[in-house]
Amino acid sequence: MSIIVQNISKSYNKIKAIDAISFEVKEGELFGLIGPDGAGKTTIFRTLTTLLLANEGSATVAGFDVVKDYVAIRNSVGYMPGKFSLYQDLTVEENLKFFATIFGTTIEENYDLIKDIYIQIEPFKTRRAGALSGGMKQKLALCCALIHAPKVLFLDEPTTGVDPVSRKEFWEMLKRLQKKGITILVSTPYMDEAVLCDRIALIQKGSILKIDSPENIIKKYDKVIYNIKAKNRHQLILDLKKYPSQYSVFAFGEFIHYIDNSSTFNSIDLQHYLEKQNNTEIEIKIGNTTIEDVFMDL
Ligand code: ADP
Repeated sequence: MSIIVQNISKSYNKIKAIDAISFEVKEGELFGLIGPDGAGKTTIFRTLTTLLLANEGSATVAGFDVVKDYVAIRNSVGYMPGKFSLYQDLTVEENLKFFATIFGTTIEENYDLIKDIYIQIEPFKTRRAGALSGGMKQKLALCCALIHAPKVLFLDEPTTGVDPVSRKEFWEMLKRLQKKGITILVSTPYMDEAVLCDRIALIQKGSILKIDSPENIIKKYDKVIYNIKAKNRHQLILDLKKYPSQYSVFAFGEFIHYIDNSSTFNSIDLQHYLEKQNNTEIEIKIGNTTIEDVFMDL
């Protein structure tokens, strides 16, 4: 196991940020912590990268204990924090050199590892980091986190605030790094990114709701989700919420996701009900379950 977390809890004054969290990440695995703002993701990262001491529990990273062996951990992991962490007034190249130097290495020594990524920002190597676009900053931050060839990579919301094309490229880079044997723990509030991980932990308010592969989480979900549309979306939501056997109703892209809790549910009855409430252009179809559906239910 590359990461072992056992019953870790952490409070800030009276706020319990994480509550008895346990999970394991295998060597070479791409593991995702999926949850909204405030779920406790950053607290987990800071504990595992030895920047924060937990109140309870224990954890090891690459075989090292997060309390006793903090020096060894700092040398063997790469950490890309959620907030842009680089020196804004240093250039791209200076940032990278700086990180290489403090880890006692050089850009050349581990160039192979960052080459694919660095090539994309090299044309801007004399530009100050503060003047880079979101996607470029993220690539530079990733290079800096990788420059000492870490065994384990911690990426806290690396794609937040990044455009969709750069987000896609970023995940492709992660897959390539994984192939090089690096274990990756990544967090994201974007449920659509969850399916790109080998396994995920769904996390909410400091607790883990579920851990499994995204495929299993979807496969094991036993409720049918109806995707419903009508001309007046707001009216549709209100009417669905009033339907006697409704289990859940939430907006998802252009459709409303609707789950019913009656074993005798019939979409034609629902259609008639909605028509009676003066909804028009009604469309009801069975949709594919997404991680977001499971998360909302949990
Ligand atoms: P996430 O990364 O998922 O957004 P965090 O770990 O940052 O979650 O936060 C978890 C909870 O702990 C939140 O309720 C947050 O407000 C609280 N919290 C985080 N850092 C601090 C801090 N330094 N002082 C007080 N409360 C904090």
